[in-house]
Amino acid sequence: MRLASMAIALVIVMCVAVFGAMLSQRTSVPVPPTAPAKAVAERGPVITTIEEREPAAPAPARAIAASDASVTAAPSAPAPTALPASPASAPASAATPAAMPTTSGGGPATAPMVVAQGSPSVAAATAPAPVQSPAAPTPAAVTPPAKATSSCPGNPNALGVSRVVEIDTTGGARFGFESPYDFLREGEVVLTFDDGPWPDRTQAVLKALAAHCTKAIFFPIGVHATYHPGILKTVAAAGHAIGSHTWCHQNLAKTKGSCEFRGKKEAVEYDPKDEIEKGLSAVHWAVGGPTAPYFRFPQLKEPPELVAYLGKRNIAVFNADLDSFDFKMRKPEQVKKSVMEKLKKHGKGIILMHDFQHATSEAAMDLLNELKAGGYKIVFMKPKNAVTTIASYDEMILKIVGAAGGEARPTSSVIRDVNE
Ligand SMILES: [Zn+2]
Repeated sequence: MRLASMAIALVIVMCVAVFGAMLSQRTSVPVPPTAPAKAVAERGPVITTIEEREPAAPAPARAIAASDASVTAAPSAPAPTALPASPASAPASAATPAAMPTTSGGGPATAPMVVAQGSPSVAAATAPAPVQSPAAPTPAAVTPPAKATSSCPGNPNALGVSRVVEIDTTGGARFGFESPYDFLREGEVVLTFDDGPWPDRTQAVLKALAAHCTKAIFFPIGVHATYHPGILKTVAAAGHAIGSHTWCHQNLAKTKGSCEFRGKKEAVEYDPKDEIEKGLSAVHWAVGGPTAPYFRFPQLKEPPELVAYLGKRNIAVFNADLDSFDFKMRKPEQVKKSVMEKLKKHGKGIILMHDFQHATSEAAMDLLNELKAGGYKIVFMKPKNAVTTIASYDEMILKIVGAAGGEARPTSSVIRDVNE
């Protein structure tokens, strides 16, 4: 009897020791100095690879996913009690690698751009479900991502999408220049296009992206979205992510500027938050469905108080690693040269271009061909949740577009098919 109780006591002591060691190991994961510990303390990983065409040889997906998790997992992070780990969802996630290839890379119809607004169940269906264990909470990100397909009908040399990362913008995040999240591997790029939608030009960019079966992020201007909602719907239908870029492209470090709306240019005074919200609601109205919680400041002017505001709105701020300065260029060759030279120098990054710019729209196909030839890989940043708009701004936009009867001009009169 005494022996038995001593044995039980010994087992308890050993359990405590093992559990303690595990805990201390978790807490001793080094956090890079750049990681915003405060911001990530209340949430899971900001960036999670959910699809991958081929794991990078020196750094397999498991290692990358685990290191991402170590960056974002705070020592005091509570056990993921809210995440469903039901028997029903576990086999589904286990079957994901085999089931996913048919749904990606090829068609927008099978790969919706964003998941339903704030729906944890949908997120759980696409993200690997963590296995619940009282002794050793398994980091969710260690499950290998689904394998993305490389097939692209009619184009054996397509870029495709090499990796899909899911972005959790809860509490905000910042990407691009001086971002704390260095998630891109050497040779990986994210394509972004600003200032659209615009007839011919946006479609030319879409055509090039479709020919390469690849995905990009668009940051449309609210005013332009009200002119051409049909074009923006096409962007959404093709499976690209659509963020926003203010209502009238104002410098948000100021409160005075000028706005051209329906052919009239006027001096305006504005509240920067209105500029953000109106732009957001206008884009959301034009798309007519969920849009991404991604925002880019005009001229990349990012007042800290507005970055904080966007954080509270669970919206990520996108700067850029490589600015093409395509708005200064007239010839497509210049745009291509600018991007390729900067990429050669930096090796990877979020590229800022403008689908609104004529030269860029003409350069798009050649640029993608050259990226492929240079061995670069496209990463698609898929938002985990959709952005939420504010009702009063939605109403404001409805009043504005209502006055013009929806489309400012019939789509057929402004869109020319760019088949040469
Ligand atoms: Zn812009």
